[in-house]
Amino acid sequence: MIRGLILLFSMFIFMLQAQSFELVLPKEKNCIVNTNYAFFVGRAKNGESISINGENVYTASNGAFAHSVPLKDGENRIMLRSPYGIQMFKFYKNDKQKNVEFPLEEFEPIMGYVKRDNTPMRSEPVDAGLNRISHLFECTPLIINGSKGNFYRVFLSSNKTAWILKEHVQIDLDYIQTPTDFITMDSERYKNAFVQTISFTKKLPYTIEDTEEEIIFKVYNPEMDENSVYTLNIPKPEKYTYNVKMDGGKYTVKVRKLPEKKEDYTIIIDAGHGGSEKGAVGCLGDEEKNINLKLAQELYNILKKQGLNVHMTRECDANVSLNDRVDFAKDNGADVFVSIHFNSIPDICMDIHKNRGTSVYYYNDNSKEFAEILEKNVTKIAGTRSDGVRTASFAVIRPSDYVGVLVETAYMTNPLDSLLYRSDKFMHKAANAISKGILEYIKKD
Ligand SMILES: [Zn+2]
Repeated sequence: MIRGLILLFSMFIFMLQAQSFELVLPKEKNCIVNTNYAFFVGRAKNGESISINGENVYTASNGAFAHSVPLKDGENRIMLRSPYGIQMFKFYKNDKQKNVEFPLEEFEPIMGYVKRDNTPMRSEPVDAGLNRISHLFECTPLIINGSKGNFYRVFLSSNKTAWILKEHVQIDLDYIQTPTDFITMDSERYKNAFVQTISFTKKLPYTIEDTEEEIIFKVYNPEMDENSVYTLNIPKPEKYTYNVKMDGGKYTVKVRKLPEKKEDYTIIIDAGHGGSEKGAVGCLGDEEKNINLKLAQELYNILKKQGLNVHMTRECDANVSLNDRVDFAKDNGADVFVSIHFNSIPDICMDIHKNRGTSVYYYNDNSKEFAEILEKNVTKIAGTRSDGVRTASFAVIRPSDYVGVLVETAYMTNPLDSLLYRSDKFMHKAANAISKGILEYIKKD
């Protein structure tokens, strides 16, 4: 009898547990982290109320919840309580890595070579942010006269230095100096583009800058003379793209005017992540890659119906590298590139009403207006909270060959937003809103 009762009782407990909440985050009961917050993201079942360290957790009508707990250095114990019982979690926070300021070491100039194409040269010795001043070509010779942390200092002229990651440079101590000579320069004006070329006997480092009025391209020849700088000033139209190509020592800078008619635009829709790259995981376990693809496909269909020339970087659940996405866009002559994403929880105190909604990111100034138009359309038409227009160094929007933005349509990890992206009606509205934004931009004179 007693045994029977115990059995019945344990079955009862088992059934209760089976019906209780599911956690997407944290993945383990004991975690070692270097974040400032511990995140609890998941789904409550049958209206159960959840509290974490005594604080009641907001739960959306579909059970979605997200909660953050500030962490102190070392061990943190966090208690999650629901009507079905108590669960304990242990977070071990690694002492914040102190921002070590590396000393600047200066030395006699040595020569180095850029190891591969598309190597960023930066204004600061920091491997992040908007500090890229050019992307150098393979085998470009550089004069190096200092280092700081992981970076070499590149001497460009008497009043200009730049920074490049040490791992991107092959030092050549046996370099024999054969100065590079200027050959010729030329400029051509086409209906839709300004093209300027400048030729040297060998490759040289360059910088490119998008200013208010024009694109400024500078080639530095410090081996010849510390003030040997060649400057091309290229006028730019209102809506434009630009790029630098190199053949031998011949640099071609093209500033292109975007088409006037919408039929002449090539639009690339990029569904973020895919395959083994799941992206963010939502409160209810949804994977961002699938939501992105669903929205991208709907957007593609709307644009296609309007008779626009539109391509997708992926049409199924496949792994596509960031480089392949960029190459695909360039190969197809992209004018406009829209990367579709849904956001995840930032490492800040989670605010249900604040950390939600739509943000749009751009990298180059030529994409700022488009980013603003898209954000305005999505928040207005799809009714999401405005989470701002910002700059970010995402690989797919870095090329200036097209106008590129990345849309974080809503937050995967926000309980209120999870009601949105699970609804076909919302997804339709969001696709419609993005298409309206694209059309508003490309129709604009
Ligand atoms: Zn994403």
